[in-house]
Amino acid sequence: MLSYQHAYHAGNLADLQKHALLAWMLDYLAAKPKPLTYLETHAGRGLYDLSGPESEKTGEARAGITRALAEDWLPADHPLRQALDVIRGRFGPNAYPGSPLIAREFIRFEDNVHLAELHPAEHEALRQVAGFAHLHKQDGFAMAQAVCPPTPRRGMMLIDPSYEVKSEYDAIPRQIGLIARKWNVGVIALWYPLLTDLRHVPMIMALRTAHPEALVSEVRFPPARPGHGMVGSGMFVINPPYGLQDEARRIEALYKRL
Ligand code: SAM
Repeated sequence: MLSYQHAYHAGNLADLQKHALLAWMLDYLAAKPKPLTYLETHAGRGLYDLSGPESEKTGEARAGITRALAEDWLPADHPLRQALDVIRGRFGPNAYPGSPLIAREFIRFEDNVHLAELHPAEHEALRQVAGFAHLHKQDGFAMAQAVCPPTPRRGMMLIDPSYEVKSEYDAIPRQIGLIARKWNVGVIALWYPLLTDLRHVPMIMALRTAHPEALVSEVRFPPARPGHGMVGSGMFVINPPYGLQDEARRIEALYKRL
């Protein structure tokens, strides 16, 4: 039974780190005139309304993207800022793009996109905005294993689970190992939470051991509400594009002021 809904968290400080790095990577990959594949295992609904009751209830976007824009965390030429400007021009000033719609801003006609989203309502909402992609209403890792290695081989995968089921932390290193073996040239990016109970640590240790060349970028921030277990977020990237390390360090420095 899936209960996680990203609308409560869209545009928060974790999304900001994830989406800034995602947009940077897609901008880099799409700069070359060669087709690419973009895969997402846990796509979400694609488009969020930051004036909606879910976002208002948590206030997470106010502490995230709204503050970041007010304080110019993202320069005007940053790929996430540019994608956000286009989306807001199209859907209004309170719109916030999920990862699929961020990707759409960089994807070209010749590129190949597969998005998996299992939750029926989230999947239906995604279907309404993601006509540019092949959609899969199935487990994201099952989709990834079936599609990899994709055609074209060049490209990237975002793995952004909701971590609703504790066993996900145990399963992810094996799933990523299988994907990386089948698709050894793919950029494979995993988002994960930094938790006060350190539940994420064995997963990251296993991933670091198996993929010692991967980029690991972590940022810390105050919990969304007192006692909340998430106190930061991380990105683990296998085959990171050239220059991603500098961008990741720049973003990490921004969070140090919080
Ligand atoms: N990637 C999105 C973004 O950045 O805008 C957010 C995704 S949200 C963190 C995780 C999504 O995974 C939820 O929409 C949830 O319904 C979906 N989900 C949960 N379990 C899944 C599974 N086994 N396969 C595919 N999607 C799943």
